[in-house]
Amino acid sequence: MKHNFSAGPAILPQQVIKEASEAVIDFYGTGLSVLEVSHRSKEFVSVLEEANQLIKDLLEINDDYEVLFLTGGASSQFFMTAMNILKEDETAGYINTGTWSTKAIKEAKLYGHINEVGSSKDENFNHIPKGLTIPDTLRYVHYTSNNTIFGTQFHQMPETSNRLVADMSSEIFSRPVDIAAHDIIYAGAQKNLGPAGVTIVIVKKDILGKVNRVIPTMLNYETHIKGKSSFNTPPVYPIFCSMLTLRWIKENGGVRNMQKRNIAKADLLYNEIDRNSCFEGTAKKEDRSLMNVCFVANDESKSSIFMDMCTEAGCSGLKGHRSVGGFRASIYNAMPISSVQVLVDLMKEFEKKHG
Ligand SMILES: *Cc1c(COP(=O)(O)O)cnc(C)c1O
Repeated sequence: MKHNFSAGPAILPQQVIKEASEAVIDFYGTGLSVLEVSHRSKEFVSVLEEANQLIKDLLEINDDYEVLFLTGGASSQFFMTAMNILKEDETAGYINTGTWSTKAIKEAKLYGHINEVGSSKDENFNHIPKGLTIPDTLRYVHYTSNNTIFGTQFHQMPETSNRLVADMSSEIFSRPVDIAAHDIIYAGAQKNLGPAGVTIVIVKKDILGKVNRVIPTMLNYETHIKGKSSFNTPPVYPIFCSMLTLRWIKENGGVRNMQKRNIAKADLLYNEIDRNSCFEGTAKKEDRSLMNVCFVANDESKSSIFMDMCTEAGCSGLKGHRSVGGFRASIYNAMPISSVQVLVDLMKEFEKKHG
């Protein structure tokens, strides 16, 4: 048995993998593979509609918003957000909490003024900056709600009267969200929802069409709203798999229950990190991510011994990102607590032998 702690593409529910593989052979009894059906077929149109409705139901999204399934990854949203809603002479605030925020800032600068209203760069992004003085005249404030690489998370939304834009790639559907505070939320599917290839965008409709610049057709949210995410050929298979995961989330008690499970898993792992004399967490306690748990071995020279033990026990994807080092256990929605327990037991065993 494997325990997949990869940061992304990442673990999916076993049930989803099974159903997704069956549909590769026979898609809903059509006798065709889901890989070879038209995106205009009634079967796929109903998949797209179901995925859309499930997202709206799970996150309690009202009709002021549209849910889109786009390509280009979360990385394309770094510029699409600003391109679509930030006027040349307007200023947007960005909270810099890591690699992804830094990239978002770079792209947004192409379209308007950017005020970096907070940053934890000085301390290698080991915390979420707080007590910020954010002017209330900004077009929006952008934040990365969960920092996949550094293992920090906003447990409260940024305190500001401005509208919010959020990159929720590595935590979407892990907990409830206050949709109404946001103008745009985006997330690449490959962390907590499906395979790589589709990006979910939740956008408030009445904010669009206000900038003067020319926006290429494919990069304009309005195109995809009008086209119901099928202006061009959408990523059929990633959308199908994401829909299966959304069904699984609903069957398993929705985002509130996901949150409960995620807290239990994270508590189990962080408690062991704090108790165990051989390991140390890298993020400040109050800002620790429930999704990506970053830690290092106190004796770095023994890191590879622990990694080998993990590999031996079927735990994969634990190598920390090069900008933090050590280990990163990504424990997304689909990760069962039993797999977290396996990792915790390995840490205890390591302490006995090498502590
Ligand atoms: C992975 C990740 C991205 C980049 O996603 P792509 O789909 O590869 O462009 C952006 N933001 C966050 C928070 C991520 O975790």
